[in-house]
Parts: sequence; structure tokens; C-alpha cells
Amino acid sequence: MHILVIGGAGYIGSHVVKELLQQGVRVSVFDNMSTGQTDNLFPEADFIQGDILDVPALEKAIQGIDGVVHLAAKKAVGESMENPEKYAVNNITGTLNILNAMAKYGVKNFVFSSSAAVYGMPDYVPVDENHPTNPINFYGFTKLEIERFLPWYGQLKGINWIALRYFNAVGYDADGAVKGLEKNPQNLLPIVMETAVGIRSGMKIFGNDYDTTDGTCVRDYIHVSDLASAHWLALKYLAEGGHSQSLNLGTGKGISVLQMVQMAEKVIGHSINYEFTNRRAGDPGLLIASSETANVVLGWTPVHSDLENMIRTTWAMYQK
Ligand code: UDP
Repeated sequence: MHILVIGGAGYIGSHVVKELLQQGVRVSVFDNMSTGQTDNLFPEADFIQGDILDVPALEKAIQGIDGVVHLAAKKAVGESMENPEKYAVNNITGTLNILNAMAKYGVKNFVFSSSAAVYGMPDYVPVDENHPTNPINFYGFTKLEIERFLPWYGQLKGINWIALRYFNAVGYDADGAVKGLEKNPQNLLPIVMETAVGIRSGMKIFGNDYDTTDGTCVRDYIHVSDLASAHWLALKYLAEGGHSQSLNLGTGKGISVLQMVQMAEKVIGHSINYEFTNRRAGDPGLLIASSETANVVLGWTPVHSDLENMIRTTWAMYQK
């Protein structure tokens, strides 16, 4: 099997590449290196520097490939609300370029990096795949929009697909094979780590008056190596004739912001300077996945996602 991993030099993409190589897959990485890092490239994988907006380059890379994993996207929620044009072009036009190139060259299997952001504010938890999709930010809208194209490309062009709806991705490869730290991180755990190492003088916890056990927001954090294994299982499933569908990837267990910070203090061995501030707009108090379907359909079970391990593998990277 020869797979093109688009966005394979990024945080999640590089973990996917590692997993596929371990499974004996031949991998080519296609990445424009806007946020991807040279440190995340594996010598065993071919590397093509290219942009999904450059159709000739994309078509050249896609010819003769058995399947595509697509993770090349803009993913900062706040920025997507300020600069939707950028997100429309990269996340929607760019992905349509990929699907069109696949259709043109008869590449049938597509694994798409989607997000829990397609759901918006949860009506109930755990959120399963039948939960209504109603994104409340433009980033989530771009992911959902592509999910709406996929059944049409399936029906009209014979493209088989799995859209993986990630919940909160955290952690790093336990072997240290992925070397690049995310630049300018926007998510909770990297912010905790940057505070711990002094890159930031302090951090804010957005709200302590939610209807949760300690008043801070609860999320479903999933180790990136567990996300990576789901991509391999999805490719295998499609290669064996599996049905196209969207699947949640989370643990089903909720962790509060305060629990995350306190466990980080324990792992790191010193206190972290934080203060409680107002709620952040658009934050649900509680967001947890049901990943029952991924378990049944793909046989996927998270094995790296206990809280302490997620923090330890992240801390190991920040200590370097
Ligand atoms: N959060 C926080 N302080 C920060 C960053 C995040 O309290 O500096 C909280 C945020 O309100 C949310 C949780 O941490 O409840 C996870 O936020 P993140 O942005 O990592 O992911 P999201 O759940 O928004 O996709």
C-alpha cells in the first residue's frame, strides 16, 4: 500500500506517518511546510514540498497512490472567525482540489481529518455521530462542509472515505520519534507547558463557574498516537471494502481544565502560575465523545490516553 499523507509534517500528521511506516506502509508526505516542520519528517518516507492550492503539483503527487490521508488544514478557531477567507481557501478549496485530483487519477480511498467542532454546542453527552452538526465557528464549518461533499464524491466518483472527528488531541510519541514542537500553540496543554518552562509568565483558566465538578470546562483529551492508529485502521478498513462514514475519536472520559493543570504540576514537580478569568466565548462546559462506533467499525481502542501519560509525553518534549 502506498499512501500520500498530506500535511504529514504537522503535529498529528507526523504521528500518522510514524504509525503507517510501522505498519509497513509505503508513505509519501506532501506538505507546504507552513506549519509543518523538517524535524517531523521521517527518512523512510518520501517528501514532496507542495501546496494543496497548487493543482499540478498535487496531481503529480497523487498519481499512482493507493490512498490519501489529508490533514493539511488551518486549525485555529479564533483566527477562523477573524480571517474566514483564509480558512475557506485552505480548508475547503484545498480539500476539493485533493478530491478532484483523486477523481481524475482514480485514487479511491480517502481518510479526512475532521473535528468535534462540527457538532457545536452539545445537546447531550457523550456526543455520538448522530448528534446534530451545528458548528459555532468558521473552522468547524469548513470541516463540516467537506464532510457534506464526501458522500457526493462517493456516489458520483467512487471515492471511499472515512472522516475522523478528533476531540482534543494531546501528547507526543512516547519513543520521541516526532521531534518538532508546535509553534505558537493555541491549546490548553501546550499553554500549560509553555507556562511551566517560562515561555509564558502565567496562564488563564477560562471560567470556573461551569456546571462541572470543579467549575472548569471538561473535555475529552485523546493521545495523538491513539489518533494515529485510527488512521491506519481506517485505511485498512477502506482497503477491505468498508463503508464510508464519519467517526468520533475520543476516550469518553472527561478531564477538567483544573485537573489537567494539577496533574501537570504533579508530573513537572512544581506549581504552574494560573489565574481564573472569564469564560471564553463559545466554550461548552462539557464536551465528551462516544467513540463506540470507531470501536465497533475499526476495532479501535485508545491505549495511550491516560491523563498522566498524555502529560508525561508532552513534558518530555518541552524539557528538550
Ligand atoms: N483553556 C483555558 N486556558 C487556555 C486555553 C484553554 O482555560 O489558555 C480551556 C478552554 O476554555 C477549554 C479547554 O481548555 O475548556 C480546552 O481548550 P482548547 O483550546 O485546548 O481546545 P477546545 O476544546 O477549545 O477545542
